[in-house]
Order: sequence, then C-alpha cells, then structure tokens
Amino acid sequence: MPSHDRTDAAPYLRAVRDALAAHGVEIEPYATRVDLDPERERALSWPLTGEAAWAFDDAYGVSLSWSETRGWCLDVTHELGATRGYGHYVHDLRLGLLPAPGEVVAAVRALVDDPGGLNYREPVRPRRPEQLDAAFEWALLGYHFQGAARYPSHEPPHYACPFCALAGGGRNALTGQGEIVRRTPGALAFVSPRWWPNNRGHVLVVPTGHHENIYDLPTDAGHAVADLVREVAVAVRSTYDCDGVSTRQHNEPAGNQDVWHLHVHVFPRYDGDGLYASRPLPGYATVEERRPYTERLTEYFGV
Ligand SMILES: [Zn+2]
Ligand SMILES: [Zn+2]
Repeated sequence: MPSHDRTDAAPYLRAVRDALAAHGVEIEPYATRVDLDPERERALSWPLTGEAAWAFDDAYGVSLSWSETRGWCLDVTHELGATRGYGHYVHDLRLGLLPAPGEVVAAVRALVDDPGGLNYREPVRPRRPEQLDAAFEWALLGYHFQGAARYPSHEPPHYACPFCALAGGGRNALTGQGEIVRRTPGALAFVSPRWWPNNRGHVLVVPTGHHENIYDLPTDAGHAVADLVREVAVAVRSTYDCDGVSTRQHNEPAGNQDVWHLHVHVFPRYDGDGLYASRPLPGYATVEERRPYTERLTEYFGV
C-alpha cells in the first residue's frame, strides 16, 4: 500500500501518551518516542514503569500496546519458573481502534487499581483488515489538528466525575437518572441543578464518554453532543414558553469551567432576561424544583 494514502499515527499516539503521563501512568522513558514506519503496520508497545507497573507485581513486565488492526492491549509477561521460561499474555482493553486518550487512561487506571480485571482467556481478534479504510485514516487525521497535548488538564487525579456517574446509569450528589430527559448513543441531556434567576430549568448536554474539554473532543463525540444540543434547543423552545435559546460551553478555569467533563448549557431565553449580566442563584435546585422542567422535556421526547 503506498504510504501517501496512510495517515501518520504519531499525533494520536502522542496524545494518548501525554494523557497517560498527566494521570500518573508512566512509560519507560526510552519507549516514549513515537516513530512509526509508514510502510509497515502502524503499531507500538510501551513498557509501563513506576506505580502503574508495581500494581502488577506478580508480572515480570507489563506493556501497553497499540496496533492499527487490534487497538489497545495490555501485554503481560510472567516468569513461569527456572525451567519453563516466560509466558506472554494479552489483555484486550476492548476500546476499539482509536478510542479517545481519556478512554485509554480510564481503562489502564481501572486495571492498575484492580489487576484482577485482567482477562487473558478472551482471544484478541483483529478489528479491521489490513487494508486502507478511509474512516480510520480520517479519524487519525483529526489528531493532527488537535491541541490536546499542548494544554494542561485541570482534572484532579482520581476525579470522581459526576457526569460519568450519570452516563454510567448511576447518580451524583445532585442529579439522578430521573432528571435525564434524553439519551442518544453518544450523549445525554438533563435539567441542570444550577439555576440562573431568569433562566430556570436550563439543560446540560454531555458526551457519554469522558472528555475533559473541547480541545481533545473526538469528532464522533462532538457530533453526538451537537446533535443533542440541537434537539434540546428545539424542545426547550417549544415547551418553555421562551422567546429564544442560547448555548454556552466553557473550557479551563479561566473559561469558567467547573466540572471536568465537557458540557454544553442550553438556556431558555426571554426578552430582556439579562442572562449575560446575571449570576447563578446560590445553592442548587432540588429534584422537586426541577420537576416541572424535567416533565415537560421527558413528555416532549416521549421518554
Ligand atoms: Zn466524566
Ligand atoms: Zn458549565
């Protein structure tokens, strides 16, 4: 296959490497370079070191590997004894071929926290034949234009993400499944517990997967969010008796972000409501206070 049809995978792999480093998953320093031969299968293997490697203390070595046909796997080497040498086992992280960097971090961290989750019995099957796949090349190309590696993460280590709790079917301190007004395969929408005085009952739309901000949002998650924002805007416009709709999306503390999972606010707007000059109300709206808005939207969407 001529190499000019193949996209350089290095920007994607660097984004994953930097996300791992930002979350305390260390790779052997000699292995952190990403030089891939464009004529061969795009693949690499990174031996883990430090805290992440110690978690697998009964293993001789653990490497995180990626290839364009299998995606991400954890390769574990065990010493079988003086006469039997070494055994190599592969755990498929089951993330598909090009998961967002944050998804790789979450999967690796889950195994570092609980190495009992390793499963060597499931065979690792190629997910894509070794031929040019335009969608795959296009997705890789997306990482050539992303700034993920260049901007700091503000999410604390072991962040208990309130939106992931909702996306995973659970609840957080303020919101449960009952406040979700619509779910699509890639996104969900719920009535925000934080209210602005003249724009009560505004809605938050979040991607199902954990993405801290817009800089490293994969295109499929971005499309899922944008589509649901549009549906919610139409629903709010048709059920709130409002005169318009505004959306807002914040990144990093300087951009007024305070939950480290990307979200878009969808506000009902009323003539002269002064949204941009007003501050949010203190405290949080209860489930009961949100109910009139939740009911309107669930009825609209036929949830
Ligand atoms: Zn999250
Ligand atoms: Zn916000």
